[in-house]
Amino acid sequence: MKVITGIKKMQLWNKGVRKKGETIGFVPTMGYLHQGHLSLMRRAKKENDRLVVSIFVNPTQFGPGEDFKRYPRNFKRDQRLSRACGADVIFHPQAKKMYPPDFKTYVEVGKLGERLCGRSRPGHFRGVTTIVNKLFNIVQPDTAYFGQKDAQQAIIISRMAQDLNLPLKIKVLPIVREKDGLAMSSRNTYLSADARKNAIILYKSLQTAVGMIQSGYNSPREIIFKMREMINSKPGAKIDYIKIVDARTLKEVKRLEGRLLIAVAVYFNKTRLIDNKVVQSYKRKKNGLYRRR
Ligand code: AMP
Repeated sequence: MKVITGIKKMQLWNKGVRKKGETIGFVPTMGYLHQGHLSLMRRAKKENDRLVVSIFVNPTQFGPGEDFKRYPRNFKRDQRLSRACGADVIFHPQAKKMYPPDFKTYVEVGKLGERLCGRSRPGHFRGVTTIVNKLFNIVQPDTAYFGQKDAQQAIIISRMAQDLNLPLKIKVLPIVREKDGLAMSSRNTYLSADARKNAIILYKSLQTAVGMIQSGYNSPREIIFKMREMINSKPGAKIDYIKIVDARTLKEVKRLEGRLLIAVAVYFNKTRLIDNKVVQSYKRKKNGLYRRR
């Protein structure tokens, strides 16, 4: 496994691979790898001749006062885990090379980037789409793999790839969870022992919401009220948002119809955790049974 830090070097490497007619699977990450990242890497390796993983804590997707400086990093461990997943290359560029002083160009995906997390993290998705676009141009993968954990990010990147005719496939893989249901995240390491225990309420509240929808509840307000009550019962939990939105447009829904994304963001002290579930809503029939809408 090679570690490549230079942009030109990375482009030369992928040119060589393409010449041989081999395919490249790509997993962009910010490092501090966990099983969620590894599930993407394993799938990418299985479906392609070559696997490239990028490890880059991208400054432009962090707002002022966010955790850019203290974001967890452990490159040695990441190298070991990537090698074990069969990575051919870790692309690990320097921030000053990715964003030289005269850098000017950003990519934005309209209103999609302003909803949900975009509201509390203005500019975040502009940073994400810009870096992912740059990485795509540097690595030139056939397929890039993303996690459903960051549902809004996956939707925005798929939109960008379609809108800009990017010559690659985007695949979105399921959320990998701890045994107790907490979605794996590099940021979970920030949690105190108490907060770690309490944090499973995100998953539990999502499960409750799915159960309510499947048993015929029709009002997003009632479901959100229940979720709010559950999360607020945990000491130290501060809700950023709980939303039920159309899984494609990310617009809040008034009626529970079609494919829905239930998304939550909750602070435990300074640590902001996100989680989500996609659910197909059901409609009650006269005989008391339910059918898909
Ligand atoms: P990050 O390093 O947090 O930027 O994440 C890199 C990629 O891993 C993104 O596509 C994430 O959505 C994905 N990812 C992060 N956590 C998980 C998880 N628990 N399950 C599946 N994918 C994940």
